[in-house]
Amino acid sequence: MSKNISEIFGSMVFSDVVMKEKLPKDVYKSLHKTIGNGSDLDITVANMVAIAMKDWAIEKGATHYTHWFQPMTGITAEKHDSFISPQSDGRVIMEFSGKELIKGEPDASSFPSGGLRATFEARGYTAWDPTSYAFVKDGVLCIPTAFCSYSGEALDKKTPLLHSMETINEQALRILRLFGNTAAKRVITTVGPEQEYFLIDKKFYDQRKDLIFTGRTLFGATAPKGQELEDHYFGAIKPRVSAFMKELNEELWALGILAKTEHNEVAPAQHELAPIFTTTNIAVDHNQLTMEIMKNVAARHGLVCLLHEKPFEGVNGSGKHNNWSISTDSGINLLEPGKSPHENSQFLLFLAAVIKAVDEYQDLMRISVASAGNDHRLGANEAPPAIVSMFLGDELEAILGSIENGTEYSGTEAATMEIGVHVLPNFIKDTTDRNRTSPFAFTGNKFEFRMLGSAQSVSGSNVVLNTIVAEELEQFADILEKAEDFNAELNKLISETIKNHKRIIFNGDGYSEEWQAEAERRGLLNLKTTVDALPHFVDEKNVRLFTKHKIFSAAEMHSRYEILMEAYIKIVNIEALTMVDMAKKDFIPAVSRYVGSLSATAASVLGISSRVPCLAELSLIEKLSGLNDETYSEVTALEEALKGAESCGEDTLKLGIYYKDVVLPIMDRLRSAVDRMEENTSAAAWPVPVYGEILFEI
Ligand code: ADP
Ligand code: MG
Repeated sequence: MSKNISEIFGSMVFSDVVMKEKLPKDVYKSLHKTIGNGSDLDITVANMVAIAMKDWAIEKGATHYTHWFQPMTGITAEKHDSFISPQSDGRVIMEFSGKELIKGEPDASSFPSGGLRATFEARGYTAWDPTSYAFVKDGVLCIPTAFCSYSGEALDKKTPLLHSMETINEQALRILRLFGNTAAKRVITTVGPEQEYFLIDKKFYDQRKDLIFTGRTLFGATAPKGQELEDHYFGAIKPRVSAFMKELNEELWALGILAKTEHNEVAPAQHELAPIFTTTNIAVDHNQLTMEIMKNVAARHGLVCLLHEKPFEGVNGSGKHNNWSISTDSGINLLEPGKSPHENSQFLLFLAAVIKAVDEYQDLMRISVASAGNDHRLGANEAPPAIVSMFLGDELEAILGSIENGTEYSGTEAATMEIGVHVLPNFIKDTTDRNRTSPFAFTGNKFEFRMLGSAQSVSGSNVVLNTIVAEELEQFADILEKAEDFNAELNKLISETIKNHKRIIFNGDGYSEEWQAEAERRGLLNLKTTVDALPHFVDEKNVRLFTKHKIFSAAEMHSRYEILMEAYIKIVNIEALTMVDMAKKDFIPAVSRYVGSLSATAASVLGISSRVPCLAELSLIEKLSGLNDETYSEVTALEEALKGAESCGEDTLKLGIYYKDVVLPIMDRLRSAVDRMEENTSAAAWPVPVYGEILFEI
């Protein structure tokens, strides 16, 4: 039975339409004002909104409400309170007040705070974010909120994002005014994140401790077939997967999430979902919800959705493409090359700001995608390298070249620009030669940031993009507002910016070795791993940037650095412990038993007659016994290494380096030994499901 999509869409969202319908006119108006320009909300208004919200939610089957927030764990958190309120006659009524809508006090002592919140002050509070709509999920009214400590420090991923939206709004409006635009009231950034994921059968998942504890396989020899035939990409979707996607879409639509495209990805069992873009703040909330709902819907289909960046060796891992642009409140895309020379000079100024921002803050962009999981992808010839650069396409690069050199641009449809050089008025969107290897590619009217990991919140990357571009727009506005000859100053600014920052532009193959060398010659950063990248977060220039724009305080930055480094250490530690466990309890005993049965066979065959050949048994016994010993000694080494971590004390940087340089290489060696055992052991004797089954049987 197919339902009417336009009826489903947004049916579980307390949206603008619903508010208009359910709220008295003046209440709606003042709420709308708060949403539009961030003015304070009066408590009497909040009370009216709370009652309307509760009545609407109860109609949708809700019995509870929650302040839905995004702590530093990277996933969302909720604590449910029911609406019931006891009456003197023993009955209950359903109640919800403006106070409860605006502020919550979850016991927050167990969320990571990186030392920000002393335990005697463990309480944090959540504050309603009226710019993201409330919704009903599983019988619970979810109210999107920001999460802070009592002394006001942000403990979540939403607060800095909202601040960064404010900052870029302010600075971009200054630029628009310089170009005579007085109509725009607000500038927002927009995001459309393309989400990759794997779907596997739950019966295989349940048999592998590595998948259960770490979300990825820590062992596993490659199957005879991988992704080399490229027959999965955009291939026909299997019925079970298709049923999953159908249900997923319906759930997402009900929550007002604009799920648009779905297809099979490169690796077997890998898929992608892309929504239509929306305001960054909402896009981040929606992506968090999408990841959660993917997991829930998969479970109902006997499947498991793996969001890890590298669930399987030997086939592609999963990422997230963060499509980002800047737009006015009336929907004018400021990264869209214009039709007139006037619009084009404004476009080029915004473009110059992005170029300068990416060059000056390569480190922050790299850090925003750093995680233990993503370390397995970046630079592994399936995802962009760890070097941040940007792709503009040949035509745009030629235009910038002519501006820089003051020469005439002789492109196909060149025409005079106001800033005195020649440039095309009708930019031809070049969608044919998109560079898939670039970390940050201009794709016609937006930038596609391709380094993000599939499991990460997209909040961090957008906090960085919004803030660094706002910083450059501010510098530009400071200069241009004082200019005596606006066009001359504009021309100078754009050409100087290009001259000073063109090293960040690279249109070639980002996967190639030559690029590594070339990037080094250009002086670009190459922060290969999370441990290399994270410490730069608190570099002086970055602290200056974020504190200046009031995105983070210095204390918040240090706490975030600690949280991220600790997360890395904990993840690698859990992986190592899981490997030790599986090797000792699953693989070594299984191989030992198998060698025992081979030996029994060989002994009885040789017992009959020495003329009967049993070379297969004898060679396997020798090979597997050797590998089992090798496995055992690597396990012992790994256990020793984990104990040795104590020598680092509490110093997170020291610990991070230790796990990266000492623990990870032993994990690799242990895996290699076990994988060679798998290749030589009977399928019946192998204790866990193998890649061929997990990736192809669904
Ligand atoms: P692909 O990268 O697969 O070729 P598309 O060009 O269709 O895909 O777009 C990918 C994503 O970019 C979609 O989620 C889309 O909504 C988003 N997108 C398109 N325009 C913008 C924009 N102005 N701002 C942010 N995201 C955008
Ligand atoms: Mg894409």
